[in-house]
Amino acid sequence: MELDNLYQEVILDHYKRPQNKKLATIFDAQVHHVNPSCGDEIDLNLLIKNEVVTSITWDGVGCSISQASVSILTDLLIGKSITEAYAIHDNFVTLMQSKGAFSGDESVLEDAIAFAGVSKYPARIKCALLGWMAFKDASVQAQANLN
Ligand code: ZN
Repeated sequence: MELDNLYQEVILDHYKRPQNKKLATIFDAQVHHVNPSCGDEIDLNLLIKNEVVTSITWDGVGCSISQASVSILTDLLIGKSITEAYAIHDNFVTLMQSKGAFSGDESVLEDAIAFAGVSKYPARIKCALLGWMAFKDASVQAQANLN
């Protein structure tokens, strides 16, 4: 798989120095997601306060793409309103499902734009999306718990 060097560096940097990779004990929702086709697994804890994503923490094992993607997600979404977080989530999912046709909006996706090239590799798309699916699942559960 050939990715742009700069993008590859962003992914490897997050893989080697993952952000928020330590499950917090205070959370509204806790999920466990797996990507059996690659063997990636993550646990993700989410805390939402006053409609703001207050904490996303995780632990996991798997390939560099799956682990870097969830690390970048935490950097990007913590501190955002749930509405903003969903907009970023939707943008990322659209990018991943574009088969390379959509280059992504860097002003929205920031470091997550590094995965743009991954959308051309069907086998790796689930790796990149794992953390994002876990976040969405956790956010739905968290909001159900609040109501
Ligand atoms: Zn993987």
